[in-house]
Amino acid sequence: MNERYARERLAATCRLLYDRKLTVSAGGNMSVRLNDGEILITPSGRNKGMLTPDDMVKLSLDGNVLSEGRPSIEHRFHLALYRMNEDTGAVVHCHPLHCTALAVSGRPIRCGITPEGVLLLGEVPTVPYFTPGSEELVDAVAAAGRSKAILMAKHGALTQGKTLEEAFDRMEELEFQAALQLLTGDVEDLPADEVRKLEAMR
Ligand SMILES: [Zn+2]
Repeated sequence: MNERYARERLAATCRLLYDRKLTVSAGGNMSVRLNDGEILITPSGRNKGMLTPDDMVKLSLDGNVLSEGRPSIEHRFHLALYRMNEDTGAVVHCHPLHCTALAVSGRPIRCGITPEGVLLLGEVPTVPYFTPGSEELVDAVAAAGRSKAILMAKHGALTQGKTLEEAFDRMEELEFQAALQLLTGDVEDLPADEVRKLEAMR
C-alpha cells in the first residue's frame, strides 16, 4: 500500500475509533501493513483522537524503527501477528468499555448470540494477563494469533483483518457483542445447527 495513503487511512481510522468511544485517551494502538517487510503503527502515548498522518511510525517486520517517532509499546505483538499471518493487513488493539468490563471480571466473550457475532468474529479466545509491552504478552497473543478477535484479561481487546476496515469492523462488532452480553445476561446462544449454517457462509 502507498505509504502516504496508508498514513492518512490510519489517522482517519484512529479518529473513528476514538469518536466511536472504542478507546479513550492514549489507550490502544493500531497498525497497517505497507508491504512484505514494513508496517506503520501509531506512536507511543498519544491521544488516538488527535493523531495526524505524519505521526505514524514506520517499522520493519523485525522491529527496526524506519521513521521519526517512537512506536507504540505494544508494537511487538503487532509484528508477531504480521509475521505469522500472511494475509493480515491490519491490527487494532484498544480498550473498549464493555469488552474491558468482561476482561477485568474474568468473563469470556460470547459471539454466538446473534448472526453477526458468528459471521464477523467466530470463537474469541481470552489470553491471560501479562504486563503491557512484555515478551510474555507477545507470546500469549501469538498463541491465540489465528483468531480474528482476542480478549486480553484485565486489559482490553485485539482484532486483525485483511484491511484496516475489516480489523476496525471486527473491533466495533466485538464491542457491540460485549455490550449485548452485559445487557442481556444469561441469554441463550443461537442453536448449534444455526451456528454451523452461519459458519458455512463466512
Ligand atoms: Zn492496551
